[in-house]
Amino acid sequence: MTITHRITDDILADYAAGNLPEAFSLVVAAHVSLSREARLRLDALEEIGGALLEQEPQVAVSASSFEATMARIQNTQPEAPTQQETRPCDVLPAPVRAYVGGTLDDVRWRSVGMGVKQAILHNSPDATARLLSIPGGSAMPDHGHQGMEMTMVLQGAFLDGDERFARGDVEVADEHLNHTPIADVGADCICLVACEGSLRFSGLIPRIAQPFLKL
Ligand code: ZN
Repeated sequence: MTITHRITDDILADYAAGNLPEAFSLVVAAHVSLSREARLRLDALEEIGGALLEQEPQVAVSASSFEATMARIQNTQPEAPTQQETRPCDVLPAPVRAYVGGTLDDVRWRSVGMGVKQAILHNSPDATARLLSIPGGSAMPDHGHQGMEMTMVLQGAFLDGDERFARGDVEVADEHLNHTPIADVGADCICLVACEGSLRFSGLIPRIAQPFLKL
C-alpha cells in the first residue's frame, strides 16, 4: 500500500519536461496553481532543467515538448479578467476551468449512483481525468488501480485511512493500493482525479456498471 500526500519532485520534473500524460499534467497544473510550495519547487526544477539545457544541447527535445505543453495549457485557458482570477470563491482552478469551458456551474455532471456524480474532462488510452462529486459522509466505491492515480481536492475534504485531504491536497496512489476514500462530513467533496487506464472496482454493482459509466 503506497500513499503519498503531495506531488513529488519526480512527478514535477516529469511535468516540467512534458513527459506526463495530459490527464496528469492537468492535476499538476491545478495543484501548482493552488500551492505556493509546489510552485516554488517547480520553479527550482525548471531552473535546474534550464541550466542542464545550456550544457547539453541534446536534451533540447524535452525542453521543446515542455514548452508545447505549457503553451497548450496557456492557450486553453479562457480569457478572464484579473479580478475573476483572484475571486476567492472559485472552486475550479484556472487549468480546470479551461477543460470545463467555464466555472463549477458549467460542469456537465452525470450521476453514477449513491449521490456520486462525475464529469470526464479528458479521456485517452493512457490516462483519464475527471471531476468527481461525493456527498459529505459518503464513500467512494472500493476500487483498485491499473496504475498511478492522482486525486486532488477542490472542495470539501476526504479521509483515506488515517489521512485527511483538503482543498489543494493531492493523494497519489499506485496499482498496489485498494482503498475506500470517504468524503468528510459537510459540503460535497469535489475532486479532480487522473488515473492510468480505468479504475477497477471491487464491489459487484460498480464492476457491472463500469463499462457503461466509464468510471
Ligand atoms: Zn483510488
